Formats: sequence, C-alpha cells, structure tokens
Amino acid sequence: MRFPALLIVWALILSVVPATASHAVSQSVEANSSVAAKKNRGKACPTKNFWLGAGWGADRGRRSHAGMDMGGKRGTPIFAIETGRINRTKRQSNGALQIVMKGRSGSMYYYGHMDKVLVKGGQRVTKGQVIGRMGDSGSKGQVHLHFEYWKSGRESDAVNPIKLLKRICPSI
Ligand SMILES: [Zn+2]
Repeated sequence: MRFPALLIVWALILSVVPATASHAVSQSVEANSSVAAKKNRGKACPTKNFWLGAGWGADRGRRSHAGMDMGGKRGTPIFAIETGRINRTKRQSNGALQIVMKGRSGSMYYYGHMDKVLVKGGQRVTKGQVIGRMGDSGSKGQVHLHFEYWKSGRESDAVNPIKLLKRICPSI
C-alpha cells in the first residue's frame, strides 16, 4: 500500500512545483512594471498618434527652440499631462493659441499651435483630460503641438522634455 501513496505524493509535488515557479516569475514581472508605473504615476503623454519634429535646441534664428514639436493630424486630442490647473490660455501675437498649465507636482507645461482650446484659465483639469485639439495656429500648414516642460514651475523655465516624453509616451 505504500507504493501508490508515494506515487500520489510525487504527483502532487510535480503538479505544485511548476505552478509555484511560474507564479514567482509573474510576480517579478509585476514588481518591475509597478516600479515603472510608480515613476510615471500621475502623468500622461500630452498627445497621441504623433511623430517627433524639431527638438530641443533647434535653431530658431535669434533664439533656440525651447521645446519639442510633435506633429500629427489636425484635431488630434491634446491632453493634460497631469492633474492640476490651467494657468492661462491665449492667442499670441503670431496667432498661435497657447495653453499653460501647472500640475500638482509643481511643474508647468506649455502647449502651442492648437486649432482649438477647450479649457479656460483657472480651470482644474485631471490627468489625460482633453484640453485642446492639435492644429497649425501661428504655424500655417504645419499641424503640430509645440510642447515645453517648465520643470521648476517658474515661468518659461524650460528644460529638454525628451526624457519625460520617453517615459510617459508609449510610442517613443
Ligand atoms: Zn516648436
């Protein structure tokens, strides 16, 4: 009677061990992706279905380009990069529509050249909320989002946004 009992024990071991091993693997994958999720927590890519245009430091005559251009189709949604508040919206002297928002992290974000602005100064926004539509205001014929990252939260204190965008935009 001992022999069948041993077989049963062995069968039990065989059925339990692989399950335990694969569980351990999936746990470590989850751990890694949760680290990434934590780092990106609270931020969304400012637009979607885009290609990268002129980047940080591109020559703009007397000044250099202080942001990243993200080209796309007219009407592509523009998103609040994090939960926060719209600082202002306005039409610049060159005709470009702009949105400036401040996130709850303290950083500010500048969006330019939209066809449509769907928010107002002072309005609270949540991460991923559609705040505008991509267009070519002030850049006729070149539909794109001009995006600046004012990391310190000070007006026009732009830093190269590429690292941030790579972290939060799945397509880069
Ligand atoms: Zn630009």
